[in-house]
Amino acid sequence: MAMRFASTRQKAPQVSFSEAVVSGIAPDGGLYLPTEWPQADLQSFGEASGKASDLAGVATRFIAPFIAGDRLESKLPDITRDAFDFPAPLVPLTKDERLSVLELFHGPTAAFKDFGARFLAASMRRMHRDVVQPLTILVATSGDTGAAVAAAFAGMPGFRVVILYPDRRVSARQAHQLGCFGANVAALRVAGSFDDCQRLVKQAFADDALRARMPLSSANSISLGRLLPQMSYYAHSSLAHIRAHGAALNYVIPTGNLGNAFAAILARAAGMPVGRIVLASNANRVLADFFSGNDYAPRASVATLANAMDVGAPSNFERLRWFFRDDATLRSDIRAFAVDDDAIRTTIQDRHARFGEIHCPHTATAVNVLQALRRDGEEGDWAVVATAHAAKFDSVVEPLIGGRVEVPTALAELLARPSHAEPLTADYAALRGRLLAR
Ligand SMILES: *Cc1c(COP(=O)(O)O)cnc(C)c1O
Repeated sequence: MAMRFASTRQKAPQVSFSEAVVSGIAPDGGLYLPTEWPQADLQSFGEASGKASDLAGVATRFIAPFIAGDRLESKLPDITRDAFDFPAPLVPLTKDERLSVLELFHGPTAAFKDFGARFLAASMRRMHRDVVQPLTILVATSGDTGAAVAAAFAGMPGFRVVILYPDRRVSARQAHQLGCFGANVAALRVAGSFDDCQRLVKQAFADDALRARMPLSSANSISLGRLLPQMSYYAHSSLAHIRAHGAALNYVIPTGNLGNAFAAILARAAGMPVGRIVLASNANRVLADFFSGNDYAPRASVATLANAMDVGAPSNFERLRWFFRDDATLRSDIRAFAVDDDAIRTTIQDRHARFGEIHCPHTATAVNVLQALRRDGEEGDWAVVATAHAAKFDSVVEPLIGGRVEVPTALAELLARPSHAEPLTADYAALRGRLLAR
């Protein structure tokens, strides 16, 4: 049966997977979610071996019911093979803590966003083949999204990527990554904040005259093409864990816009042996405050050491609320805690001193939360989700551990390339001119 996707606001027609990917946001301003929850057959996943049990194989089997009846259905094995061509290992840490790390940083830009961005690019490549009139992917980024999207679409005929990022407000290595692709990727360093970048992008999407001359598409964190594939590493790791230990795996997930954590919730809803889900945020307390019983109060973000989570109004919160129907159920199922910069620093230092572990500032929020849960008597097997490699945030991590962080090969390759970004004033006329100039 064909899967349909409905808007969280219920005032837009239901669409197929590829229609939802192309449009991004629903016409009523809502976010798309599946209308049904296909239940994965754990038995058959349990018996799968060889190719079917590797990450791409699990992804194909698990995502298939969600794109049933879609024009991309028959292409799914190719799409997952392109997107999941690097591992997401579950690495045991300390035995006495029954703690593992789900390492999501082995992709080309060393952050978990590579999975979603590569799946989105692999899907779009099989929908849009017009090289004469290329599709422009326009993204505002606070650091990691832009690089993952640029890497995923770099060199792909029929596409160009335009990235807007706030000048001097991303880490040096993040900036280098954004500007190192060249060719069909343009990096624009905007004299302004991330909010300015987002405003400019929104203005472009609202500019019908521009869009009539130039097809535009987005790749932001509400994209279904990024959200769905992120279920795969929760499916893969929870299956591997239950097979080895006979118990469900619980997760602490570093959280900003709630894309990664929501994928874990979806994987569990579709039958995967995912246990408890706990969100870790930085000093941006909007979720922690809500889950401790206050009204949902989105606010301006504050800058922290875990900059990819500097979010004051998580864009996927609307999906979370829609999914759980009422706030009491939501609060009884999911927990969320905020971790400030001092605690991030202490955690990085302390885990390195005691165990030789090296965590990025985002991952450190989750480690800190898990330690607190354990102190309060929390039982069970836990995985901390490592969303980025520490080498991406060397300027924070190296002084804390008093040593160098080894740079993974893929990241080293990008850092060895020349990098160039064009300056842009935070003004829509300037962006429009740049987009039309090609
Ligand atoms: C984007 C990002 C996050 C936050 O993920 P969300 O899906 O926005 O919640 C956490 N850590 C890193 C390293 C990121 O790049």
